[in-house]
Amino acid sequence: MPHYKIAIVGAGPAGYFTAQALQNSTDENRTFAIDMFERLPTMWGLVRSGVAPDHPKIKTVAKVFEKVAAEPGFRLFGNVEVGKDIDVEELCARYDAVVMCTGSAVGKKLGIPGEDLLGSLSAAEFVPWYNGHPDFADLEVPLESDTAVVIGAGNVAMDCARILALDPSELDSTDTASHALDALHTSKIRKVYIAGRRGPEHAAFTAPELRDLPKLEHTDVVISKEEVEAAHARAAAAGEIEKHLAANLEAWRLIAEHPHSGHGREMEFHFLAAPKEIKGNGKVEEVIFGINEIQDGKVVDTGETYSIKAGLVISAIGYQAAPINGIYFHNGIIDNEEGRVLGTNIYTVGWAKRGPSGVIGTNKSDASDVVKLIIEDLAEEARPDFDITQFIPAAVEIVDQAAWGRINAAEVAAGEALGKPRLKEVSVEKLLHLGRSE
Ligand code: NAP
Repeated sequence: MPHYKIAIVGAGPAGYFTAQALQNSTDENRTFAIDMFERLPTMWGLVRSGVAPDHPKIKTVAKVFEKVAAEPGFRLFGNVEVGKDIDVEELCARYDAVVMCTGSAVGKKLGIPGEDLLGSLSAAEFVPWYNGHPDFADLEVPLESDTAVVIGAGNVAMDCARILALDPSELDSTDTASHALDALHTSKIRKVYIAGRRGPEHAAFTAPELRDLPKLEHTDVVISKEEVEAAHARAAAAGEIEKHLAANLEAWRLIAEHPHSGHGREMEFHFLAAPKEIKGNGKVEEVIFGINEIQDGKVVDTGETYSIKAGLVISAIGYQAAPINGIYFHNGIIDNEEGRVLGTNIYTVGWAKRGPSGVIGTNKSDASDVVKLIIEDLAEEARPDFDITQFIPAAVEIVDQAAWGRINAAEVAAGEALGKPRLKEVSVEKLLHLGRSE
């Protein structure tokens, strides 16, 4: 019976769900040896560095990941960067299949003047900053002004706005990175605008996230009743309102009707607001928006503008994949057909394959579809055994499953003492140290 060797690159949801789908496809015809490679010494991808710290329930999926990792035939090679420490070509030559689950780590650009001013950040920087990603621990996040603007009408924009608008004491019992929590405690920001370029009926927020907003204890959430009614009327005029939109419109209505309690912290939605320019003398001071309107179902620029004075702008308008040596990207994703990289034994799952869409669970069906293709393509004979460590430079300290287990346990123990689910370590050196056995 062939024992296939599969390399999975990226220890995020797409990677673990791919490993799980392979494990579930083990039968009397085939077994799999799975090697998972991860650039960081920490695992779980967006579950660790993307999901908002005030949404701990979403992170419980990490238990599934650890169960997958505990199965026989699974090995972890953390702190090993594919494309740098080991070539993609090397993996392709040894493994029966290589599955790239490397996500979309780079924020899309607005392409407007002033975008590079100090205080203009992408969610692709801000989110990993508050979540303790080692690469972003030193990010400069100016929190001295009273107003911030978040651009984009998706769930990432909502996460960014909520983190800025919450009373930071609400994050004390979460796994928010210590540097971010300290900074947020001194933040002067009291007003956060979220700006969408189309109407509320077009927003990419999902209803559960919207329904949570009136529950915020120390933050008033503002949207005008007239705006919600107009969105409802436009949606109804356009035809039957489908389920997801009806749920969103109902959530908007509840937000608009929710009484404000004058907490001194506000999150306000602006729609039909297209970012035109970020202005400031060396740093962000003002954002200029073009006013859109909807004519015959189409969003059009009225030619009018307005401005919001703010010291921080975060654009949360989507992501694209970061380049990897040896992989060809097209339009921000790995060039692929339904997960196959044609002419190679490379496959891709998750955001690297389909772009930044869907929730964590979406990667489960995605992985299972691609694993079916992998199995279709596998040769009758598995490739010969090899020792992959021979091809990883000796100077690279590999974080295996046991080492990751020690890092994880140390963080959880440090957090427990403070009433948090974990205290994240953000220095790679210190993480490697935590991973070493006595
Ligand atoms: P998204 O859902 O695709 O939203 C992107 C937003 O950016 C859209 O409102 C889009 O507006 C806007 N946008 C794009 N280009 C723009 C521009 N040039 N100027 C102004 N606005 C622009 O992306 P996301 O928020 O990054 O989320 C990615 C995925 O992760 C989504 O599937 C999301 O649901 C998921 N996620 C889920 C959760 C959760 O379940 N709690 C949390 C975070 C993320 P247009 O529609 O007009 O293009």
